[in-house]
Order: sequence, then C-alpha cells, then structure tokens
Amino acid sequence: MKYADIIIEISSEKLDKPFQYRIPSALEDKIVPGAYVCVPFGRGSRLIKGYVVEVSDTPKLDTDKIKDIDSLAVVDEDNRAYDELIRLAVWMKRHYGGTLIQSLKTVLPVRASIKRRVRRTVYLNVSIEEASRLHAEMLSKHQVARGRVLAALMDEDGADMSLITDKLHTTAAVINAMEKLGLVKIVADEEYRSPDIGSGDGRRKVGLNEQQLKLTREFAEDYCAGIRKTYLLHGVTGSGKTEVYMELIAHVIASGRQAIMLIPEISLTFQTVMRFVRRFGDRVSYMHSRLSAGERYDQWERAARGLIDIMIGPRSALFTPFSRLGIIIIDEEHEGSYKAENMPRYHSRETAIERARLAGASVVLGSATPSVDAYYRAERGEYRLWELTDRAKGAALPTVHTVDLRQELLNGNKTMFSGKLTELMEAALGRQEQIMLFINRRGYAGFVSCRACGYVFKCPHCDVSLSYHRSGQLKCHYCGYETPVTKTCPKCRSKYVGGMRAGTQRIEAELKLKYPKARILRMDADTTSRKNDYERILKDFADEKADILIGTQMIVKGHDFPKVTLVGILAADMSLYALNYRAAERTFSLLTQAAGRAGRDVSRGEVVIQTYSPENYSVASAARQDYNSFYRQEISYRSLMGYPPAAHLLKVLIESPEAEHANKIASDISNLSRTAEAAETIGPSEDTIARINDIYRFTVYIKCEDYEILTQIKDKIEQLRQDRPDSRSRVQFDFDPL
Ligand code: ADP
Ligand code: ZN
Ligand code: ZN
Repeated sequence: MKYADIIIEISSEKLDKPFQYRIPSALEDKIVPGAYVCVPFGRGSRLIKGYVVEVSDTPKLDTDKIKDIDSLAVVDEDNRAYDELIRLAVWMKRHYGGTLIQSLKTVLPVRASIKRRVRRTVYLNVSIEEASRLHAEMLSKHQVARGRVLAALMDEDGADMSLITDKLHTTAAVINAMEKLGLVKIVADEEYRSPDIGSGDGRRKVGLNEQQLKLTREFAEDYCAGIRKTYLLHGVTGSGKTEVYMELIAHVIASGRQAIMLIPEISLTFQTVMRFVRRFGDRVSYMHSRLSAGERYDQWERAARGLIDIMIGPRSALFTPFSRLGIIIIDEEHEGSYKAENMPRYHSRETAIERARLAGASVVLGSATPSVDAYYRAERGEYRLWELTDRAKGAALPTVHTVDLRQELLNGNKTMFSGKLTELMEAALGRQEQIMLFINRRGYAGFVSCRACGYVFKCPHCDVSLSYHRSGQLKCHYCGYETPVTKTCPKCRSKYVGGMRAGTQRIEAELKLKYPKARILRMDADTTSRKNDYERILKDFADEKADILIGTQMIVKGHDFPKVTLVGILAADMSLYALNYRAAERTFSLLTQAAGRAGRDVSRGEVVIQTYSPENYSVASAARQDYNSFYRQEISYRSLMGYPPAAHLLKVLIESPEAEHANKIASDISNLSRTAEAAETIGPSEDTIARINDIYRFTVYIKCEDYEILTQIKDKIEQLRQDRPDSRSRVQFDFDPL
C-alpha cells in the first residue's frame, strides 16, 4: 500500500498541515508530488481538493482511520518540476511566513477547467512594397490601428494574433477586416503551438564585443565544469546586456536545458519578445499578468511537457514548471516589482536563487543600477560581479547638467523650466529631435495643503493625502474617495490653499503655452487607465508622432527611442522625501535610468537635472553616472543604521477593523519579539498608512543581522496565532520590505 501526504485547499491556519490518505491501486502511478486530487475530508467526508506533497509506504495513523483518495482532479505528467516547486514552496513558507497552502498556490499552476484555444498566426498577404504603399495610405486616412499591424508585419512577418492584439493594442476585428481585404492571411494551428511562431535562425545578429565575450566565455567554462553561481551583471544602459543574456541562454539550451528570463511587466514589449523569437523561434514563450487562468495554465502545460525552452515574463514566470531548468535571468534586477505584494511576500531574487539551487541551475542578475542588496552580496563574494562599462553601439554616455532650482528662483525664474533646460529644449526642437521630460513624484502625488497653517487634505478613511485633479476634485488613490477642493482652509480659514508641486498636467499646460507648435504626449496614471494605453503612448512617441513626452517614472522603461537627445528631470529630489530607508536608492536609480534614455543611438545626448538639493549624494552621483560613489555612501549609511542589506528587517503588519484590538495584538507581538535578545524590536506604532478602508493598521519592526533569528521570531508569532486563533485581526509578514 502507498500513502500520500496531502495539503488540503482550505485557507485556515489550523488545517495548514499535511493529511495522510491511501492511494487506490488504480491511481498508483499517477499520484506524484504536485498532483492535484480530490479527497473526502472531515466528519461528513465532503470532497475537497488538495495537493500531494509526498508519497510514502508507511502509514502514520491506524490504517483503518486512513481514507482513500477519491480521484485525480487533474492528471499531470510525471514531472520532476512539481517536486522541485513543492520543495520551493516549503522553503518560501519558512522564509517568508504565511501558510503552506498560500505558498503552494503561488508556485503551482492554477488548474482551471481549460478551454483549448486555437492559435492563430498572422502573415502578410501582399509584397513588402505593396505593404509599404498601403501603410502610407492608411496613415493618411488615419487608419492607425491597421497601419500599426501592417508595420509590425513588415518588420517581422508571421506573428501570433494574440501577441499582436495584446502588444499592439488592437482587436481581432481589425485583423479580421484586414484579412477580408486580402492584406493579411490568418493561419490557425492546433493547440499548444507557440504564441509567436517566428522561425528563429538560432544565430545572433550582432558580433559580441570584447567585454561581452569575456563574460559569456567565463559563463560557458563554469557551466561546462558543472559550476553553478549567481552572477551580477552591472552594465550601463545600452551596454548590450540583453545580447549577453541571449548568448548565455543559447549555451544552456545547447546543453539540453531550459531558461527562465524575468523582466518587469512594464518592459515586456513587442520588441523585447520579438528579439528573442528572432533568435530562438517557437521554443520561446511569454507570460504576462493579463493572461486568463486558462491561458496561463496552457503556457505552463507546454513548459511542463518540454515543448518550449525559454519562458519570458514577470515574477510569476519564476514558477514555470521546467523539469530541466538550467538558467534563470532577472533583468532590471533592482525593480521593486520583483517583490510580491501578497503573502507570501517573496523576493524574486532570493527565490530564484533557491529554485536554481534545487534545479542545479545558474542565476544571472542584470541592471544598470544594481540594487544595493545585490551589489553588497557581489562585493562579499556571494555573487560573481560582471561589468559592462561602455555602450555597445559606441555612443557616449550623455552630458549631464545639474541646475539648482533655488538659484533659479533667486534669479526671478518662477516657471518649472530652468534657463538651461529652456535653451536646450529650443535647440532640440529646432533640430527636430525628441525630448523626454520626467517628473519624479513617486510617493508624493501632488497633495494639496494650506501654506498658512500646514493643514493637508487627507482621506477620512485611509489616512493618506488626497491628490488634486484638474476636474477640481481631490481623490484618494487607495479607496477612490472624492471631495471637491475648498477655497479656504478648513482649519484656519486662510485663502492660501494650493497644490504643493507641479504635476504632469500642469507641465503639459505650461509647455503648450511656451511652445504652441510642439506636439506633446503625456503619460501618467490618468492617461494610462485603460489596457494598452501605456504601450500606445510609447509606440506613438517611438513613431515620432510627438516631439515631447512628459511622464512620471513610467516613461523610464520600455522602448528604445533613438531620436531622443534631451532628457529633462524636472524635480529630481521629490522621491528623497519619501519616508523610507530606500528613498536615496530609488532616487539614484530613477535619475540614472532616466538620464540613460538620452542619446542612445547618436553621439550627442544631454540631460538636465533640476533639483533643490544638488549636494545630495544620490542626486550628485546620478549626475556623474557614478554608481560606485553612490553605493559607497549608501552602504555606509545602511550599515550605520542597521538597515538591509547590512542587517535584516522584518515588518509585521497587524490589521483589524477595531483600532483598540489591532493595537493590543501588536503589543502582544512586540512583547513576544522582545524575548529574543539578539534582535531589536521597534514599536508597535501606527503604520505609515494608519487606516485603509476603515481597517486600522499597526506595525512592529524587528531588526537583526541574522535572518534565521527573524524567521524563528516569525515562527513564534505564527505559533501564538495558532494557539489563540483570532478572527478579528490579520497578521502579515514582510521580510526586508521595499
Ligand atoms: P541593454 O540590455 O544593456 O540595454 P542591449 O542588449 O539592448 O543593451 O543593446 C543595446 C543596443 O546595442 C541594441 O540595439 C543591441 O542590438 C546593440 N548591441 C548590443 N551588443 C552589440 C554589439 N556587440 N555590437 C553592436 N551592437 C550591439
Ligand atoms: Zn490653514
Ligand atoms: Zn481613501
């Protein structure tokens, strides 16, 4: 007889342990770790679903107390990957807290009842010459959607229909209409074909330079010798990191193994995907958050069956069930989106390293501005540090001018554009080159306050400042609460009520007055509320349909704009005021990445950084494009203060609809934590957002150099919650919060 340990799919901390069941002989060869099964549960033997986590020959209970597994919910191929992923889930539960079922649900594919989709590939049905003539005609008739599809196909004939609709923000109706006109033909394939069907000739398009070759050779030598490491690739923007990734992937695939490439959702563009398809053909697949459960499952199934070798996608792609995983690449490694927002709040970097360890794979982290965490580990020899110091196409790094806004004001300039920026904008417009204006206002969304008494308009439910919209309304970004702005201050009745800083809308308005003829695009939360708005704006700018693009941090990533020669950063220091130990790191990274957009393809690129604190080290080192000097100062600050990565920090968030109760639970937790002497407990205190939707929030911070001690404290808190179940509050853990 064989027995299976099964985690029941019920989200109760009490039931978060395996229960043993007997495996009926008919199912014997199908029940493997990761299998999704139905079992009778509880007194009424109600059928419930669960995951098999282990199979053994020994019963743990009296055999007549052990029930039989009822049936398989979904049959899986025998796949080593599921075993690996379950072990990863166990590690995640231990490392980040929460229940095992939460971790299992994160790593294992959602088994939806799957409707098989037919894949459709779209090909050009006219000659390139004809297409290019039609393209011009369409543009003159303002048939922009059709024009876009045609242009994409002229670039790359034969692309998946869903990739086109998804990435070129058009609809199937548009493409069907084009087919009726005989412009394209649509070929339907059977299930499981790649979503992108390019032929992919396997060869690289550019010869690698000396620096790139050195790294790829070192990797190949390590890999062949069976050495698996984590490499940190620090390479300036445009230094050819993506070419290096492709080379490493090619090497790994040639040895019969598979690759996962994580990229932030925001840089997952048509161009990026096509770059990989061009080289690797239909062995590549990609994933993004807008896939339906069925589509997602379909992708995972193809991976599990070995029908693809490369998966590209945001952080969830880390759990692609490859059974022969050889490499995990994390591009833009410093990005905040690699940290999960829900329990378990895992970080993709650490989790990738653990998955790679389980699979015998290597990890490559890449960034122009590595996270302080990753660089610290590289310095200590935990990761191998690689550097690419030059832009691959020979373009120089841009010239950076720093402007002190206090001085501008003294000189009588009350506009948002300094003299230097104005001068360079005029020159660029005159040469018909493109300009990007970037306003850094992360965590600082244009709030309204009283300049006489300091009163700030806040949301009555969420305790965050409301932000001003041109409609005259104040809005809460958390719960959507709206209220009209008042002319006088509710507190002191003065008339000095106004927005603190310029938003993108005001910049646009001023710019229109200044340059009435310039074509301007704006990208912010308001202009990108619908699906695909983001890519449409970037695409229009790339197609040179505008001279100036104004935006928040959203415009820093994504497309390449060869015509941009000037980047203006209007208020560089705003993110410095965020109440957060990573504020300087974020500022440095945003400024450097923004500056890196200038002059990527040409010899000339200029950047103007306008700031109230030119002397601040994150602003000053970004102006010099000097990562090292930034890192030195930042790491000494972190070490001094005991912040990550010099030490570890655990944030415990306690939430309850009753303020008193939340406070009491938080005190219990901090008292418990204080019994651990090696760690320093701070709080409890109100969270920076003390209330969301009338739920009160308290936090306890626990600091310790040893991560292991923090997980032990977390275990104790979880034990306390199990011993004294409490439905009126909720506790969440966040290790090394961002
Ligand atoms: P990164 O990922 O570091 O921003 P990319 O790999 O996208 O850099 O390279 C930037 C540009 O330079 C791309 O257009 C790429 O094709 C080109 N490129 C990369 N490596 C080389 C090389 N060795 N020779 C010529 N062009 C290169
Ligand atoms: Zn006032
Ligand atoms: Zn609110």
